[in-house]
Amino acid sequence: MKIKPFWQNFINGQYVDGGAGRLPVTNPADGSLVAEIALADAADVDRAVAAARTCQNSGDLAAMRPVELGRMVRACGDYIMAHKDEIATLLSLEAGKPLWEAHIEVAGAARYFEYYGNQAETVEGRSIPLGAGYLDFTVYEPLGVSAQIIPWNFPLEMVARSMSAALATGNSCVIKTPELDPLTSMYFAEAAKAAGFPDGAVNILCGYGHEAGAALAGHHDINQVVFTGSVQTGIAVATAAAANVVPAVLELGGKSAAIVMPDADLDNLMESVRWGIFFNAGQVCSAMSRVLVHEDIHDEVVERAASLAKSLDVGPGIERAEYGANMGAMVSDGQRDRAEGMCQDAVAAGARAVTGGHKLNREGSFLEPTVFDHVTPDMTIAQEEVFGPVLSVIKIKDEAEAIAVSNGTDYGLVGGIFTADLDRATQAARQIKAGQVFINEWYAGGVETPFGGYGKSGYGREKGREALWNYIQTKNIAIKM
Ligand code: NAD
Repeated sequence: MKIKPFWQNFINGQYVDGGAGRLPVTNPADGSLVAEIALADAADVDRAVAAARTCQNSGDLAAMRPVELGRMVRACGDYIMAHKDEIATLLSLEAGKPLWEAHIEVAGAARYFEYYGNQAETVEGRSIPLGAGYLDFTVYEPLGVSAQIIPWNFPLEMVARSMSAALATGNSCVIKTPELDPLTSMYFAEAAKAAGFPDGAVNILCGYGHEAGAALAGHHDINQVVFTGSVQTGIAVATAAAANVVPAVLELGGKSAAIVMPDADLDNLMESVRWGIFFNAGQVCSAMSRVLVHEDIHDEVVERAASLAKSLDVGPGIERAEYGANMGAMVSDGQRDRAEGMCQDAVAAGARAVTGGHKLNREGSFLEPTVFDHVTPDMTIAQEEVFGPVLSVIKIKDEAEAIAVSNGTDYGLVGGIFTADLDRATQAARQIKAGQVFINEWYAGGVETPFGGYGKSGYGREKGREALWNYIQTKNIAIKM
């Protein structure tokens, strides 16, 4: 596939250069240049917000019959699927993930447009009785200009998640893509054009977080901001938005735990471990980064998790086209070194690396699939997000201890329990402080199921019908008869 050497930003229906110059995008598997992208500055952000505002003020989106709007949203997904092979290849190259995982992400991105396109017609108000002399009803209106700041771990799906729901409810969007892997997101510009969205409905720009990202989050003329990324940046984004009285949706990661009871099906558990911590090289906000294992089966689980980790063939994602025992690069040397540093600190604190813990002895941002044993709940490795293929196993003696350890971090994104006893599972589900609980399958669910955090994992919900409420505001209309 021939990759365009330079990619522009997309503002008001036009492809444009960036005021901050150009940014090289490299392949983390070997450091080679994939392409350059225009780098937006604060003035570009101003232009993008102004275009989105003009589009909103025209009333074109809000005036459309929802079924038509929904068809256009679905058409964006059709465009993505029509170009799936080239998008997946580019995503594998810029993000380091195996090609088969990139294909899953492309299909996942398209699925958001299908789902929220279908939801467009379901946003209905209600009538409120006020006695004989009145007719009262509510309508839902778009918030207006939706600002969306995207992380690098699933750049395509994260853009799709917020863009599809925002458009389906009649908002216009300004999307700030991640610096490390911004190229594939530009396909959404063509998708919006092909679907017939008017100029300004979708604006996509790449820029540094501290420059374009901060300018967007603190812009006086946005009506909402959706942010996914680190806690520290999330606080900065929400603070900037609050200064303009703008609501924020924050999705800030987690330190999620799977509780494993002695009656669990361990073959099934290992399938979930494979996806839960090694998919996308563990760079997943809802990763299964802790496993809390009952002492009766602890040694067996540690041994099986370690042999699973060792079985993974780690190397360039683009050479890993088929689903199987393989893993790609992390997104950058910086992220890999950060994760490796956390592994070294864990060993110094008394954890035992049963396998892994080091970078690979080859070029590229590769980290060994890692399993730690002898982890105690208070260790940094058990409290802070590694954002890499690193599993911490903690021994527990009963359910009460497991729940306490599961809930014993600042986060609360997801949680899970593996057991054959449904009573036990549902009781645990009620006690786990997280926005989503998986029973006997990590990542069970989909675009239809609401997702979001308790505690420092953030607030607001993405996915599912719940996400629609992020993008609309209620107006009550009362008529004196
Ligand atoms: P980050 O939070 O700094 O960046 C996420 C996005 O925010 C990027 O688009 C970035 O450009 C933008 N940004 C950065 N500073 C900003 C600011 N001041 N104002 C507005 N936008 C800003 O994350 P990172 O540096 O890419 O990664 C650091 C850590 O964050 C990771 O190691 C991981 O723990 C976590 N992370 C979590 C997720 C998730 O899905 N929850 C995703 C990516 C990273």
